[in-house]
Amino acid sequence: MNNKTIHITQELYQYLLDHNLRETDAQRRLREKTATMPEAGLQIAPEQTSLLQMLARLTRTRKALEVGTFTGYSALAVALTLPADGVLVACDVKPEWVDVGRSFWREAGVEDRIDVRIGPAMDTLRSLVSEGHAGSFEFAFIDADKPNYLNYYELAMELVRDGGLIAVDNTLWAGRIAAPAADDHAEAIQAINDRVYTDERVYPALLNVGDGMTLALKKERGAR
Ligand code: CA
Repeated sequence: MNNKTIHITQELYQYLLDHNLRETDAQRRLREKTATMPEAGLQIAPEQTSLLQMLARLTRTRKALEVGTFTGYSALAVALTLPADGVLVACDVKPEWVDVGRSFWREAGVEDRIDVRIGPAMDTLRSLVSEGHAGSFEFAFIDADKPNYLNYYELAMELVRDGGLIAVDNTLWAGRIAAPAADDHAEAIQAINDRVYTDERVYPALLNVGDGMTLALKKERGAR
């Protein structure tokens, strides 16, 4: 027995998937379709979808934000948890990626809950703030260009309400995050992990799931 995170063998990983994932048919087929694309590595791991759904449900999310939608596999998972009048604002720079997901969103009956914003996410997030959406989101998922992670985090902190949650993906960076000679992206991810860990406005947690996921729960006013 030990209390460190265990090494995941292929058999154990399969067991984890078999006891974790309750994918709808549309989710599974979107995941399989994305897996055939050259950029397939940009999709979150399947076991992360149940975590995202859990987090959205725990925070009773009606309004969600996603920075980096790719083909919409994570967007579909979160949208499935939203109430009928809920919305997920989905930011990406490539319409051809997002279009891959649309038919699956439609099939799942949640296309009208996903508000796609094509363009640099910094512009979209700033627009949301200036349009009066500050403090109105319960949940934000950041999974886009790593050099902008700190900027996305700060804007997400403005947009998320007190008691809301920000999740940041790829924060163990294939294990290179702790390597002495880190690449540029690793440095950007180290910066966000350091920021969240030391940010007194949030409660932090860094999870060993997928490629690593950092959580920041925004404190309620007056909380310690
Ligand atoms: Ca990712």
